[in-house]
Amino acid sequence: MKINWTKKGRGLHKRTMALATILASALLTINPALAGSISQIEANGSQITISFDDLVEGASTFSLVGPDRIAIDVQGGKAGHGGYANGIVKAVRQGQYDPNTARIVFDLDRPAVITDGSFSDDGKSLKLRLQSVGQNQIAIGRLSFLPPVKFRAEPPKNIYSVKVPLGKPLDSVRLPKIYGPNDLSRPLVVIDAGHGGHDPGAISPHGNAREKNVTLAIARAIRDRLVAGGRVRVALTRDSDEFLVLEERYGIARRLDADLFMSIHADAAGNEAASGATVYTLSEVASDREAAKLAARENKANIINGINLGGATHDVSSILIDLTQRETMNVSADFAKLLHRESSRQMTFRKIPHRYASFVVLKAPDTPSVLFETGYLTNKDDVEFLNSRQGRTKVAAGVASAIESHFARKLAMR
Ligand code: ZN
Repeated sequence: MKINWTKKGRGLHKRTMALATILASALLTINPALAGSISQIEANGSQITISFDDLVEGASTFSLVGPDRIAIDVQGGKAGHGGYANGIVKAVRQGQYDPNTARIVFDLDRPAVITDGSFSDDGKSLKLRLQSVGQNQIAIGRLSFLPPVKFRAEPPKNIYSVKVPLGKPLDSVRLPKIYGPNDLSRPLVVIDAGHGGHDPGAISPHGNAREKNVTLAIARAIRDRLVAGGRVRVALTRDSDEFLVLEERYGIARRLDADLFMSIHADAAGNEAASGATVYTLSEVASDREAAKLAARENKANIINGINLGGATHDVSSILIDLTQRETMNVSADFAKLLHRESSRQMTFRKIPHRYASFVVLKAPDTPSVLFETGYLTNKDDVEFLNSRQGRTKVAAGVASAIESHFARKLAMR
């Protein structure tokens, strides 16, 4: 079969995503203005009531599927705790999405949408109507609600605002060299060697192997294998012992308009017997406690001596995921399965080979991304394998085969 390796027809989607991200960062301002705290949430059958202790600017709702959820962003709102759920709504969670926005998430028992709603006359409560629908009737897009003008909080004035970078790619980081065919229509893959510089990552008790060196050697092996295949273009976020914050890593992929991002790691465990590889993709909720703990560890790469070099305030236990990331997350999960299928002939995986957690490095809203924990540096056999030329060649062969199948499949589906 002859495959034409092009990637036309995806520009518009990317541009929409980029705009959404710019808008999100523009909203991120710290302001001393008063904000209404969420004092009560009641989800009772088909009605949701949210009460505030002071005025807010407005609210907007949107749906999320797989699992079914409804999210409500309250502008000029401060998050409180919990809420009462009964009926279609199974559970209520809330958190501060950014300094000016509280986000409430309703976990649903079955698919449902918000059909209408309104603020009370004094602006201190919002009533929403919830209706269950079929799976394919879930609307994409936001519904917005504003309190009466007299009782509407003013949006923060720019004069008092301080800009907080929203984990934006720092443009100061130079873009890496792109290897492979000199043909812009070929898919571009960005391979990220985890850790680097003053951040060694995990250190092996067997021969002192450092994760930052192991990951770089594997990343180079994958690059060389992909270049030899001649089907895709490839770039490395780092090709030396250099430190990059997590946002710079996926930022490079975004600025290069990459089609796939893969971050390479090698884990450590208290139990020396733990061995094998795992592929992780992004999710708001971790698939298990171990995945949550790993994400928290990997996300700490940004925090050195207590200073958050990433600039943004990431709650590592729960990263709220934007609606625009949904499609990207599905593609990432499909690729994760393919990576396991293709690589399991070359290397050992753990019993549950694909897990989910909230990794900062996978947060690019428009680039399908996976984090590949290639094995355990605390396990003797794994270190030997990952730290050898033969081992790296095998890892690279599996990864390259998965990447090539992924793009061939995407082209076939068009
Ligand atoms: Zn790591």
